[in-house]
Amino acid sequence: MTLPDPAARAEIVVDLGAIRRNVRRLRELVSDGPGPGPALMIVVKADAYGHGMVEVARAARQAGAEWLGVATADEALALREAGDTGRILCWLAAPGEDHRATVAADVDTTAYSVTQLDEILEAARTLGRAARVQLKVDTGLSRGGAPRDQWVALFEAARKAEVAGDATVTGVWSHFACSDEPDHPANDAQETAFREALVLAADAGLDPEVRHLSNSAGALLRPSARFDLVRFGLAAYGLSPAPEVVTSEQLGLEPAMTVRARTVMVKDLAPGAGVSYGHTFVADRPMHVALVPMGYGDGIPLHASSRAEVQIGEQRCPVLGRICMDQFVVDAPGSRAGDDVVVFGPGRDGEPTAQDWAEWCGTISYEIVTRIGGRQRRVWVDSDGPTGEAGA
Ligand SMILES: *Cc1c(COP(=O)(O)O)cnc(C)c1O
Repeated sequence: MTLPDPAARAEIVVDLGAIRRNVRRLRELVSDGPGPGPALMIVVKADAYGHGMVEVARAARQAGAEWLGVATADEALALREAGDTGRILCWLAAPGEDHRATVAADVDTTAYSVTQLDEILEAARTLGRAARVQLKVDTGLSRGGAPRDQWVALFEAARKAEVAGDATVTGVWSHFACSDEPDHPANDAQETAFREALVLAADAGLDPEVRHLSNSAGALLRPSARFDLVRFGLAAYGLSPAPEVVTSEQLGLEPAMTVRARTVMVKDLAPGAGVSYGHTFVADRPMHVALVPMGYGDGIPLHASSRAEVQIGEQRCPVLGRICMDQFVVDAPGSRAGDDVVVFGPGRDGEPTAQDWAEWCGTISYEIVTRIGGRQRRVWVDSDGPTGEAGA
């Protein structure tokens, strides 16, 4: 494990202990009834929302995640290559994609259509084994998944493949459009449509291992939509999927990512000095400013220009003027070159959070953490201790 380097120019520090605690906390939050509660899928697509796919996947498994979810076959195969032997679902393939590698690796592959199912079955027949297939129905997101008028055809084709020994249908699932707005009427409509799809699947003779509809917000805010499994992405990273409804702190979750750097230079500005490209900020008084060595080339959004703040010591330091490709300037009275800067973190010591950055930039915390990267080193720490097994 690479250790955080206090002298590093800039780095992304991911606490795997926080990931484990979040996964266990999420299980608690969705297992409030009698019985074992739904299975947990931790979604680690897009390099685990910028946190590091293989490292996060391992921590999630240690904390008991039964499933991992990814978008692409490449992501699923990278998890297998890293030694993961558990259940993995992927859900985004292009027409004509070769499914042999995922079928051979015992990855569950999602079919959106009969055509796509046929492509998966072709791989299964070539390999002489049954493919694990999940069927996705569009219940109102109007994105991936079979439209309603194709549900029955998809279910019947999948059942036929099961009988022929080419497939095991392991899941039927769908995805919410508005789960972060619990009162939005689309949620009721989608859950109703999903229940209708499940009846049609059963009518076609399917009896999948898992039926699932909810992402983080659905799982947390809509108990009726938990079914057999819930898919947690953002919440596992410690961020609230519905910040207008509930904060991550109220949920008992810990943001796992800290982005930190060291200032490379400080200087004093006279009143009237313009700062950064376009001089969109002009000093209205004598100012002491510091240069932070990160920019949009590292995923710091340009939209944060003159809006965001960072933490230097005990002090909140506003960004002055435009964020550049590699650097930005902050108002930092009394600071010195080489001072530690926290761009965002869990928020426990007064530093801004990814959610704060999202609000400053008019976006969602998903985008803030996922696009962070570029030239920054990423290091993984473990607040559970060096073995990472504590309490797992
Ligand atoms: C990304 C994704 C998720 C995870 O969503 P969160 O809101 O981050 O929990 C779940 N399901 C599907 C299909 C996804 O694409």
